[in-house]
Amino acid sequence: MRAELIFIPSPGVGHLASSVEFAKLLASRDGRIFITILIMKHPFGSNTGALAQNLKEEAPKRIAFVDIPDLDEATRKELMSLPPISFFPAFIESQRALVRDIVTTILKQSESGKLGGFIVDMFCNSMIDVANEFNVPAYVFFTSGAAFLSLMLYVQNLKDNESKEISDSDAELSAPGFINPVPVKVLPSVMLTKDGTAFIVATARRLREARGILVNTVLELEAHAIKSLADDENTPLIYHVGPIINFTTGWATPDKKKSEEDIVCWLDRQPPLSVVFLCFGSRGSFDAEQVTEIAHALELSGQRFLWSLRRPSQEKEKMNLPTDYEDYNEVLAEGFLERTSAIGKVIGWAPQVTILSHPSVGGFVSHCGWNSSLESIWHGVPMATWPLYAEQQINAFQLVKELGIAAEIKMDHRKDQFTKLESTEVVKAEVIERGIRCVMDGESEVRSKMMEMKDKCREATVEAGSSYTSLGQFIEAIMDNIRV
Ligand code: UDP
Repeated sequence: MRAELIFIPSPGVGHLASSVEFAKLLASRDGRIFITILIMKHPFGSNTGALAQNLKEEAPKRIAFVDIPDLDEATRKELMSLPPISFFPAFIESQRALVRDIVTTILKQSESGKLGGFIVDMFCNSMIDVANEFNVPAYVFFTSGAAFLSLMLYVQNLKDNESKEISDSDAELSAPGFINPVPVKVLPSVMLTKDGTAFIVATARRLREARGILVNTVLELEAHAIKSLADDENTPLIYHVGPIINFTTGWATPDKKKSEEDIVCWLDRQPPLSVVFLCFGSRGSFDAEQVTEIAHALELSGQRFLWSLRRPSQEKEKMNLPTDYEDYNEVLAEGFLERTSAIGKVIGWAPQVTILSHPSVGGFVSHCGWNSSLESIWHGVPMATWPLYAEQQINAFQLVKELGIAAEIKMDHRKDQFTKLESTEVVKAEVIERGIRCVMDGESEVRSKMMEMKDKCREATVEAGSSYTSLGQFIEAIMDNIRV
């Protein structure tokens, strides 16, 4: 019997790519599974268009892609006038009727298939209602870690059961998903404002309605958080199926492939573990003053480096993504590129997985996005933390304090256009340099712990490993759904 699954990823780079990787993993694991991935077009535009195109070309036969039609102009305008925190849920709502129509057509066309369930992104949870209309279970694909999931549920619990909200302070929380007390300063900005808390609470309530939550994590990486979720009887079944990372270079457009070759050639000429890689995710960029401090830190450290340096969007309020510089001299002090040409390379959008897998790379200065963290762990590259937005501060805390696999540059830095909590400080060259030295130390405990974690995560994905087994349990559940 053939099981049809409908995937509804969010239209963000990290969300879309890891959902597609997950679909590929599922399809390769069981020949009875057929998947349709619905691709939403973000009204602000983003680089997910090119990414989606590449992913479509690479995907195996049993995975189909359907583009959700564009919104009409009036709806688009209305959405774009909303404040950032209300925009995304309203955008997802606007896709509901379109999704319903697409799924109806898929079912008409499917020869013998039965709908086994919807797999909806953590932020597309109103699609649970559409799954209900088709009378099939909805599972959430949670593209962050179990500790962050448990934190969302904790914030919701505080609000719903104790009428409490957290506000910015120097206090510490005793949150069930963490071994150590969690400083409020490392909570995601969204949990520290009224509007943001309302969003988190509403999202967490919906997450609890899912039949199961597929978390992109590994039992051995987040044993404490996963156990605390399992102990909460109001939490759906948790499947720990990670790490789902972008194993191939699904992002690469032809010109990017060319620059990838240059980067690999350069890395090939560097000694093993000698290069520090700096990259700050799909939305990471800095103003000129901060760029100067990073450049100065690199020179002070004398370290070989590969630096993904991107230009901030000129239209800050519009959620536009950073772009590549045509000429780095626009932002770098005169002489920097010449002085460092023997030891460093500055690039734009990075082929990150290729870089992290290269033997010359010995450390990763990162914004601590969850995908980037998993990619670094998978390749055993210790990290230095510099969070910017979303849940990256709590990820940094987890990597440094809970797991000991990252050195700290900052854990509480914020560059978050959606709240007024943005950090005003410029992180000084000396602080960055110290982090670079720590992460590049060949003998450090951080490095040995990272290597241990790499082995554990790899073991989890092979037969009888924890993620392999959890995925098998999920497939069984899907097959049970179509038998009834
Ligand atoms: N990425 C990349 N090149 C870049 C920046 C990011 O390939 O220059 C990839 C990275 O490998 C990861 C994803 O984009 O897979 C970013 O996801 P993450 O969760 O780390 O951060 P986000 O961009 O969602 O904040």
